[in-house]
Amino acid sequence: MEFPSKLIEEAVNQISKLPGIGRKTALRLVLHLIKDRPENTYALTEALNNLRSRIRFCASCNNISDMELCHICASHKRERSIVCVVEDTRDVMAIENTAQYTGLYHVLGGVISPINGVGPTDLKIDSLIGRLNNGQSQIKEVILALSPTMEGDTTAFYINKRIKDLPLKISVIARGVPVGGDLEYADEITLGRSILGRTLFN
Ligand code: ZN
Repeated sequence: MEFPSKLIEEAVNQISKLPGIGRKTALRLVLHLIKDRPENTYALTEALNNLRSRIRFCASCNNISDMELCHICASHKRERSIVCVVEDTRDVMAIENTAQYTGLYHVLGGVISPINGVGPTDLKIDSLIGRLNNGQSQIKEVILALSPTMEGDTTAFYINKRIKDLPLKISVIARGVPVGGDLEYADEITLGRSILGRTLFN
């Protein structure tokens, strides 16, 4: 692609690094920004800078948070006896949208995937086990709510192996979630039923 300006080329290079955005789409966005009111571009830049410099991860559950503890962990209304283990923050958002779950979460930050070079130590599995082993812990049930993919199953299997001797109920969400689909794409009613209809892990 030939660019009339180095500035445009650099912006296209940066934007096309984002997932799902090719160079043509990046160029369309850049040309839009040039035509748009300058304050909109500055507001976008400021939002991205703030995102990068101020975003934090909850010290307890690893969910994305603006504070030391996320709003779910900090809430007095949540049931502290159940922890739902998910791959990422999008899953927390999807499950929260179902309004069927009132427990806590643990965000792994991914799933075990040898092909992509992701092993157990790259995920927040040790911190989950630390949470479960903590003497103050009130956790009685762990729900493994991972995508019904090979990687999701491997991760659930691995976590189960590490925690099965703890005095806990270990359950998995019911498979209303389409096979091979991500949790976030399951509709809210199906996902809500999957959580209510969870079964013991075996
Ligand atoms: Zn949290």
